[in-house]
Amino acid sequence: MPKVHILPERVANQIAAGEVVERPAAVIKELVENSLDAGATRIEVEFRQGGRELLRVEDNGCGMLREDALMALERHATSKIAGTDDLDRLETFGFRGEALPSIASVSTFTLQTRAENSNVGTEILVEAGRQVHVRDCGRPVGTSVEAARLFHPVPARRKFLKTDATESAHLVQCVRLYALACPGVAFALIEDGRVVFRSPQCATLAERVGEIFGRQLAERLLPIEAAEAGLRLSGLVGRPGEGRSTRHELMTFVNGRPVDSRTLNFALLESYRDSLPEGRYPRAILFLECDPADVDVNVHPAKREVRFRREQQVRGFVIRSVLERIREMGCETGPVAGRQPDQSGGRLGEAQAIYGISGSAFSPHGGTAADKAPGASAEADRVREIAAKAGRPPAPQGEIAAREGRVRAWRFLGTAHDLYALFETPSGIVLLDRRAAHERIWFERLRGQFSAGRVPGQRLLLPVPLELDPVSAAILLDSRSFIEAHGFEIAEFGANFFRIEAAPEWMEPGDAESFIKDVLGELRDGKLAPGNLDLARNELARLAASRAVRLPPAAGAAEMEDLAARLFATESPLTSPAGRPTFVEIDRAELARRFQRA
Ligand code: ADP
Ligand code: MG
Repeated sequence: MPKVHILPERVANQIAAGEVVERPAAVIKELVENSLDAGATRIEVEFRQGGRELLRVEDNGCGMLREDALMALERHATSKIAGTDDLDRLETFGFRGEALPSIASVSTFTLQTRAENSNVGTEILVEAGRQVHVRDCGRPVGTSVEAARLFHPVPARRKFLKTDATESAHLVQCVRLYALACPGVAFALIEDGRVVFRSPQCATLAERVGEIFGRQLAERLLPIEAAEAGLRLSGLVGRPGEGRSTRHELMTFVNGRPVDSRTLNFALLESYRDSLPEGRYPRAILFLECDPADVDVNVHPAKREVRFRREQQVRGFVIRSVLERIREMGCETGPVAGRQPDQSGGRLGEAQAIYGISGSAFSPHGGTAADKAPGASAEADRVREIAAKAGRPPAPQGEIAAREGRVRAWRFLGTAHDLYALFETPSGIVLLDRRAAHERIWFERLRGQFSAGRVPGQRLLLPVPLELDPVSAAILLDSRSFIEAHGFEIAEFGANFFRIEAAPEWMEPGDAESFIKDVLGELRDGKLAPGNLDLARNELARLAASRAVRLPPAAGAAEMEDLAARLFATESPLTSPAGRPTFVEIDRAELARRFQRA
């Protein structure tokens, strides 16, 4: 018979710690939230060696009396809620009463605190969940919490920590998020004795962004404000055409709490779908306010995820508001609509000039999600509906044909530097980047082959030997079926030795080895994740397209006009798969202005 017993408190805390504080950044998150809940106006965060050696948060908040400080270290001890009803009107970051005991159970933990109305402070030292001492200490009103040698009592967890650089990146990002959430609180962040940023109390979000990310970024973001039936949106968003390669500059907050919300992320990506090249992410620092009863923050022990009760309403509201703002930006003068053909931000303007129609009707991504992901068509229908309500008609079906027709009116004039094809068009002149155009065409052709599952291959007369380091070899073995489904055949040939026996038809056999190594590199960095096949294929096609293009010598009018026509027959003719513009246009008005003819 099993003998059932209750786990000792200390063990229970160490287990809970695995959920609440899975890495150093999570400890800092909990401590900073406590400081904010304590009404601090000044918070200093310090860490050493990616947080592994030291994590410290000091605040000038209300502090605690000795009895409260001792109580705070007990499991489920909180001053913030009394019952579950309170979860519906939560005004604090914390409520679970788990953070302090969890952190104290897996580190060398020192709490120093002094309450407003007491003239002496308390210091409590806890070693791996065991109290070592409680004594008086001198300190100003407020609290300092230090967790040293995180996870040393649970070596198995310590092993899961990533490199110091990775943990440090998470820590910095975490503190930035809270600094953005509370511009009115002064923040300092210190890593290994160096100041990462120090920001005084700021009057506005834009000021805070300038303090922690630099003035330049602050100037590139534009304010957004919108409200609708119980929902309010505010913050800063990037201009169309100015995307990032990662989603790190996409930050969302719900009722002041930094969150990772699928709903908000999806809404943002969808809003920028037509104004950013594929694979680029918008910049946004977006705050959604709603009735606390309509959002559940208690989904995840670390409270990162949130769930909206009226998810569709939230999503629709955000998409409408952001689209509206993007449209306004398209009309404002500035890099976006200023028709400065030499600026990458000018894509919308160019599209408008070329088609003689409003940028909003032109979709560089060839329509909505429905065209790409048949499985997501219900979703896409909803998005179409939302987009239509926002005053933006979805791209009409015959659009590609119409585009091609217009491009037929371009007249090829010549090639400059063997690279740029010059055309006269009804509305001005166009310089087409031949390589970017070829890459776009190849990209869509390869992606088509990949998703149809028909990648013509060629057996290599001379198999190409492939020697890999042990990590890459393991990755190759793991993802062999993915790689082989895309036109390769690879035989294992001994420890870390392989042979490429077949390669896709489009590839020069001599390129096969370096291509496979690139693919393995991307798999290793997580840029290519076969778990999401659509995305992985996109990424693979992007890699492949840059290899597949072997630029023929500049040719005559027929070839060049054909190249332009083929480019405009693709779904997203405005950009190369890497997001570079495929062409720039100078319209006649601009030419007239430059020659001072007007
Ligand atoms: P929770 O924040 O969920 O209540 P914690 O374990 O994080 O749980 O903290 C327990 C309690 O300790 C809090 O409810 C609060 O009363 C007190 N506390 C924690 N940190 C601070 C601080 N920096 N300043 C004042 N009080 C604090
Ligand atoms: Mg807390």
